[in-house]
Amino acid sequence: MEKTCSSVWMRRFVANHLLLAKKTPIIPNSSPKIPPLPFPSLKPPLPSLRVVSPISSHRRPLSTAAQSSTPPLSTVDREDNGIVTQGSKKVLLKDMRYSELEKWVQSYGFRPAQALMLWKRLYGNDIWAHCIDELEGLNKDFKKMLSEHAEFRTLVIKDIHTASDGTRKILFTLEDGLVIETVVIPCDRGRTTVCVSSQVGCAMNCQFCYTGRMGLKRNLTAAEIVEQAVFARRLLSGEIGSITNVVFMGMGEPLQNIDNVIKAADILVHEQGLHFSPRKVTVSTSGLVPQLKRFLHESSCALAVSLNATTDEVRNWIMPINRKYNLSLLLDTLRQELRFKHKYKVLFEYVMLAGINDRLEDAKRLINLVQGIPCKINLISFNPHSGSQFRPTSEEKMIEFRNVLAEAGCVVLLRPSRGDDQMAACGQLGKPGEIQVPLLRVPAQFQTVLEASL
Ligand code: SF4
Repeated sequence: MEKTCSSVWMRRFVANHLLLAKKTPIIPNSSPKIPPLPFPSLKPPLPSLRVVSPISSHRRPLSTAAQSSTPPLSTVDREDNGIVTQGSKKVLLKDMRYSELEKWVQSYGFRPAQALMLWKRLYGNDIWAHCIDELEGLNKDFKKMLSEHAEFRTLVIKDIHTASDGTRKILFTLEDGLVIETVVIPCDRGRTTVCVSSQVGCAMNCQFCYTGRMGLKRNLTAAEIVEQAVFARRLLSGEIGSITNVVFMGMGEPLQNIDNVIKAADILVHEQGLHFSPRKVTVSTSGLVPQLKRFLHESSCALAVSLNATTDEVRNWIMPINRKYNLSLLLDTLRQELRFKHKYKVLFEYVMLAGINDRLEDAKRLINLVQGIPCKINLISFNPHSGSQFRPTSEEKMIEFRNVLAEAGCVVLLRPSRGDDQMAACGQLGKPGEIQVPLLRVPAQFQTVLEASL
């Protein structure tokens, strides 16, 4: 059984993922995680690591702070503050950068080479180990130590939906019972993208986004983010080819969870592991200016900014974060920061909402706004969801808008909707439930447009 775990698992899973997920939960849902801990035996101390308890049975209630203006810490951190003792808890392997894993392995008296072998089995091609049984070739004592002190998995598959265009939406249950969604989008020319979530829900309340209606439940750990990409490769590489790109455009505002997002991105691009190209790992933000600056300084990965409006008036409404960091602050910051980046282009995303941001004046203003910023612009079709008040811009109008930008020298692409028949498209992720974040008041000049679309 040990030696065949990987290949049998893969085949069996694709055939019947739901059944298997129920049969082999590696982490019990009742196991809460414990906050970052230094390892007392190390000098200097190890970086903060997450550990999980294999025995505790308390469950945290779902957060009711979804609408709080203060972003909550992960519920993991809040619940377990100060109750950890080393030895009775397990470390989450995927919550460590390689340097951290190496130190942790050494703290148990094993050589750094063992850490590298483990890393390659966790993240290397065709292995993506999810359990001890899949660690072929590792020393017996090392495996014993891992089985006692380390946890391999944080996610359990709940369901997979396949859209008519081949897009897959994977629902994962977290150990506290919350659910996140990950989307795998096969494209032409051998490119397949996995869109990962960085939070459960989102606090940003963008008016065109279904996830925003959930409010924020909690941040994801780096392990929970990384494992979405590992799962995508493990489940689907054989079926739809290599997963080549990662976009942080699933549930949540990634830069509100910047520590874990930067760490996860570091793990994703590590050349001995998953080895995604930094240019093909894109973190998207609604425009958190201080965090955006930090990201540009600390990460080599790509940045996308969700712009979606050409005036503060419209952006204040459809993206309330603009009331804190307005368009000129956001764009001036990018203009400044990108002067120091070599061959770096920011990606602007522009979701087109009929009658709201898709007029020719908008196209002309957009050209001026992005002047002096090395950039590409993606025009995205709006994907309706239940309760949404907007309509998508027609294809002809999107093409016209695109042509105005292109004629002015902008690099601009029309991005077709993917996976929308399974609510897997941009802005459609999540399940708000009965208590939803209220929509904002519609500015007077747009009331007629929205009423006409009802
Ligand atoms: S568009 Fe992104 S930032 Fe805005 S509410 Fe949705 S998930 Fe959050």
